[in-house]
Amino acid sequence: MDYIGQLFGTYILAQGDDYFYLIDQHAAMERIMYEKIINEFKKDYKLTYELLIPVNLEFSISEASLINEKLKEIADLGVKIEYFGGGSFILREVPTWVIRGAEKEYVEEMIVNIINNKKLEKYEFLDSLAKKLACKKSIKANEYISSLEVSYLLNDLAKCKQPYTCPHGRPVIVSYSKYEIEKWFKRVM
Ligand code: ZN
Ligand code: ZN
Repeated sequence: MDYIGQLFGTYILAQGDDYFYLIDQHAAMERIMYEKIINEFKKDYKLTYELLIPVNLEFSISEASLINEKLKEIADLGVKIEYFGGGSFILREVPTWVIRGAEKEYVEEMIVNIINNKKLEKYEFLDSLAKKLACKKSIKANEYISSLEVSYLLNDLAKCKQPYTCPHGRPVIVSYSKYEIEKWFKRVM
């Protein structure tokens, strides 16, 4: 696919093999992130690494008491936290699938999901977590994307198992054949 440009700050325009493509940049990146996270989960979601500098996490007092009740569930997902009194916890270890530099954000999202979720099967829980994280970490609509980023994105998208929809089921790509376009202009019958 060759990149043509960005439309309304939201869609990537591309062409290839006599087709014209419109790609929703958020949906595309969400699909890529989602599959990456799921693949890591499948390898070993419990594999962890220790943070060189522990991170402070702040919650409300009522959240903190829910968290203290679910420390085992949280630890089972590879997150090692210690209660520090009030609404504070110290984060010491995170799962290896967590993107470096985004530990705090990822772990806060995980913990909020754990304390708000009723009993979910572990796979369902990880799957819904992966969708939320993928959405949060993906480029938004009305955001500029450089042509270099586009080329990475198109490359990664081509490697996805299900490149045509985002993890929530929205379409990623709409395509028109050269023939269809020529019909619009009555160049062909
Ligand atoms: Zn989204
Ligand atoms: Zn989506």
